Parts: sequence; C-alpha cells; structure tokens
Amino acid sequence: MKPPKFDYHAPTTVDEAVALLGRYGGDAKVLAGGQSLMPLLNFRLSRPAALVDLNRIAALAYLREENGHLAFGAMTRQRTIEFSPLVASRLPLLVEATRWVGHLPIRSRGTIGGSIAHADPSAEYPAVLAALDGQVRVRGERGERTLKASELFQTYLTTSLQPDEILTEVRLPVTPAGAGHAFEEFSRRHGDFAIVGVAAMVVLEGARCREARLATAGAGPVPIRLGAAEEILVRDGVGEAAMAAAAARAGELVNPDSDIHASSAYRRNLTRVLTARALARAVARARSPR
Ligand SMILES: Cc1cc2nc3c(=O)[nH]c(=O)nc-3n(C[C@H](O)[C@H](O)[C@H](O)COP(=O)(O)OP(=O)(O)OC[C@H]3O[C@@H](n4cnc5c(N)ncnc54)[C@H](O)[C@@H]3O)c2cc1C
Repeated sequence: MKPPKFDYHAPTTVDEAVALLGRYGGDAKVLAGGQSLMPLLNFRLSRPAALVDLNRIAALAYLREENGHLAFGAMTRQRTIEFSPLVASRLPLLVEATRWVGHLPIRSRGTIGGSIAHADPSAEYPAVLAALDGQVRVRGERGERTLKASELFQTYLTTSLQPDEILTEVRLPVTPAGAGHAFEEFSRRHGDFAIVGVAAMVVLEGARCREARLATAGAGPVPIRLGAAEEILVRDGVGEAAMAAAAARAGELVNPDSDIHASSAYRRNLTRVLTARALARAVARARSPR
C-alpha cells in the first residue's frame, strides 16, 4: 500500500523543525528512521498533513561521553550504537539490547530517538532508559525540557511529548565499576518484537549488591521498573535464594494485558523466568569482568 498524501519538509536545524511542527499545530509527524512510521502511513493508520524529516539535521546525529554519561543525538542509528567501541566499553547493556531490535537492515535506519519517541511497549530501548534512570532532552517552541522515563512514557505508543516537541538527545549513565548486565528476551522468532524482555544490571561490592536495576519490555503498556525486586537484592545479596525471590517478586509486580501473542499469565511467568536468567548472567559478569 502507498501512504496518503502529505507535505514533505526537510529542515536542516532543530529550530526550523520545531517551527514547522508548530505551524501544523499537531497535524505533522516527525520522520526519523521511518521503520515504524512508514508502515503506519502505508497501512493508513496515521494520516498526518505533513512529515518533518530529521535526516538532514546533522546536529542530531552524535554519540559522546560527557560527565559520566553517554549522550546520543536522537538521530543516532541503532546500528551505530551496536558497533560503537565507546558504547561497548561504557554501556554494554545498550549494545546487548540493540541486538534484539529487529534485524540489521532495520537497525541501519532506525534511530535511538525514534525508538524511544515511538514508545512501543515491547521495545528494548525504553526498557534500558527506565532501568538506568536515563533522561531525554526535548525541544519545542517554548524551550527545552529534560524528562525521565517515568515522565515520558504514558501508555501504549503514547508519550508526554507535545505536538511541537522533538526528542533531541538521550542520556544514559555509564556503567560503574563492579557492574554486570544482561538483556533477556523472548520472542517467537529472532527479530520479532519481544513478548517480554528484561533489562538487568547489578553492581557488586564483595559479597554485597550495592545497586540493582531491573526493567521490563512487553509486560505492560510502558516499561516497568521492578523496584521491589531490586530492593530484595540490595538487602539480601545475590545468592541463589535472593535471586529467586527477586525474580518471583518481579512476576508479581507486573500486570500485563492479554493479546493475540500471549496471555497475561504467560507474560507474568515470562517476567519471572527472564528476570532470573538476566540476574544470573549479570551477576556472573560482575564476578568475572572481561
Ligand atoms: C520488521 C520490524 C521489526 C522491528 N522489531 C523491533 C524490535 O524488535 N524492537 C524495537 O524496539 N523496534 C523494532 N522495530 C522498530 C524499529 O526499531 C524502529 O527503528 C523504531 O521503532 C522507530 O525508530 P525510527 O527511527 O525508525 O522512527 P520512525 O519510524 O521514523 O518514527 C517513529 C515514531 O516516532 C516519532 N519520532 C521519531 N523520532 C522522533 C524524535 N526525534 N522526536 C519526536 N518524535 C519522533 C515519529 O513521528 C513516529 O511517530 C521493528 C521494525 C520493523 C519494521
């Protein structure tokens, strides 16, 4: 199918893009990698009057380390992240999560900003943003805002971005010393969206677990931070019993909807199973870093 007619704009600065969005008053869509937007247009599930293409805004494609964070311009391609030596050394959880995003051709076009702004509940990047307490910067006609995952994601495919706002940057803290990570996911075929995914990071100090971070993809309308499961690990450590208790708690903390792919009960059980697997791998990595 072909998309409905739309005006097409290719600004070269963020200010120009924001002004265009403002001019259409909510009836324009931003085009990033097009991997989610173009199918929506082709199936006529979205009929914007205009597309504002960000692909010519060179200032939105970067990846750098700043003050203990990695900063990603919104138009940074998922493939760039997957193969970046800087991301591999500073934020290996993001590399592991990226490998679960569709297939390589999709990742060659898809962007980090597009994935997060699209807010698919099964997407990997939103789960990593939630797990790591990352932030996004957004710019609109009234200026700039910085949002945490809990302030950004509202429900299925819905964020708190205003119609004139563009997500410009994603900021994630670099992995601390003593950390281990894992991203576990289950989907029917590799490359499909997750039925459930779990992002995990633990920071060990001897036998103690100084920090634990767990968040889901696909276990609810938005990524869910599993705070009460993290607390078990910080209080009781990362022995077998504590990890099993944290995984069981993770299953209790989610209340997924049923759909054609899986029932609510199945997703809950997957959350428990994948949390256990992710924790086991994260702890093993923290104990024997490469
Ligand atoms: C076959 C297939 C399999 C896939 N599997 C997965 C998967 O397993 N996991 C996964 O996470 N994704 C998957 N995707 C989606 C893919 O990763 C997309 O890259 C991603 O969802 C959207 O990124 P994009 O850059 O292509 O954005 P686009 O498709 O261009 O835009 C998506 C939406 O976000 C908005 N948007 C984009 N950028 C911005 C911005 N900077 N500011 C404000 N709004 C913005 C657009 O207006 C649009 O509404 C799959 C896609 C396909 C086609």
